[in-house]
Amino acid sequence: MGNSFFKARLLTIELTSLCNLKCTYCSVSHPDYRGQNSPLTETDIIELSEQLKCKNIQLHLHGESTVRSDWAELCRSLTSKGFEISLLSNLSKHFTDFEISVLAQLDLWVSIDTVENDRFKEIRRGSELGEVLTNMLRINAYRRKLNIQRQYKWNSVLCQETISRLPQLIEVASELNVRFVSFCNLTEIKGLEGATSIWKAPDQIPGVLEKLKNIVQLLEHYKIGYEFQGLPELRELQTLSIRSLDRNTAGGAARRSHPFQVTQAISYPQELNPGQTRLCLDPWSRAVVHADLGVALCERMPPVTKLSGRDLKQAVSCHEAEHYRLGLLSESIPEACRSCSKRPAVERHQLLESLNDYKNNAC
Ligand code: SF4
Repeated sequence: MGNSFFKARLLTIELTSLCNLKCTYCSVSHPDYRGQNSPLTETDIIELSEQLKCKNIQLHLHGESTVRSDWAELCRSLTSKGFEISLLSNLSKHFTDFEISVLAQLDLWVSIDTVENDRFKEIRRGSELGEVLTNMLRINAYRRKLNIQRQYKWNSVLCQETISRLPQLIEVASELNVRFVSFCNLTEIKGLEGATSIWKAPDQIPGVLEKLKNIVQLLEHYKIGYEFQGLPELRELQTLSIRSLDRNTAGGAARRSHPFQVTQAISYPQELNPGQTRLCLDPWSRAVVHADLGVALCERMPPVTKLSGRDLKQAVSCHEAEHYRLGLLSESIPEACRSCSKRPAVERHQLLESLNDYKNNAC
């Protein structure tokens, strides 16, 4: 049934779950949030990647990777050994010239919600937009000098105030050579000190669909790829996006291995009809190692086990991992997948076909 097959095409190692910011919408702002550095060293990371025969590594999950003191040497060393490294950063601090030279060689995801300075400061609790843009300009200058063909991907949270300034955000993105923007819905957190949601979430904004349609046109004009996550209310946009997807994007894993390809996805309905599942190959192709060494098969599901004795091969084959894979292929769809807005709903045979294609190509 395909529940024991696994061939990695992306390995995620969370270098740290600590962050230097406390953005208003982020779980790091929760009073009870506790981050930590991963105990994994460069030698460990290489060993894990060898076990899975995967040199495509994402070194972030929830934290800010650049707060770990050895991040730059680690990334420099891994890229020099032929690893494909991607990193998410808020770029909110001053980087040395050496750090800029390292960042320039990575596939870089930057968290940026607005290009309006005061709003940016408010959302990011004091962080300076100027610092982020200066860092991006320095990275671009280094890339140009050495003819390094890397681009940026932006992650942007949507809320009332950011939506009204999206055209400006897209224009700045285009000027800075950003090739993909991933928008996600603001999650309202009520009554929690330190995580106050002071803006209207997008689904409460009158005329939001029209506004986002104009944004989609602007993105396409600049040839910037995009996705909108967590907006199941916007069915019209969703229908538009499903038409533009082809089977090779199944589960987004193909997108991840070429993260800056121009692609379109909007968001997917949360409910599944009988006989349906999610078009997602992550449980057969991804390993995610959290900073506390919990191992998951995507960034959305809870860990299936803990990394024990640095044996990642065993972790991705454990009973719970097989349960996830089997679940996606049967009526017993795991809750995380059932409510996942990242992957489209399809008939079960479509996932099986996609999985068979992946298996055949992997063998
Ligand atoms: S939670 Fe979503 S991304 Fe993760 S395995 Fe399930 S469908 Fe795929």
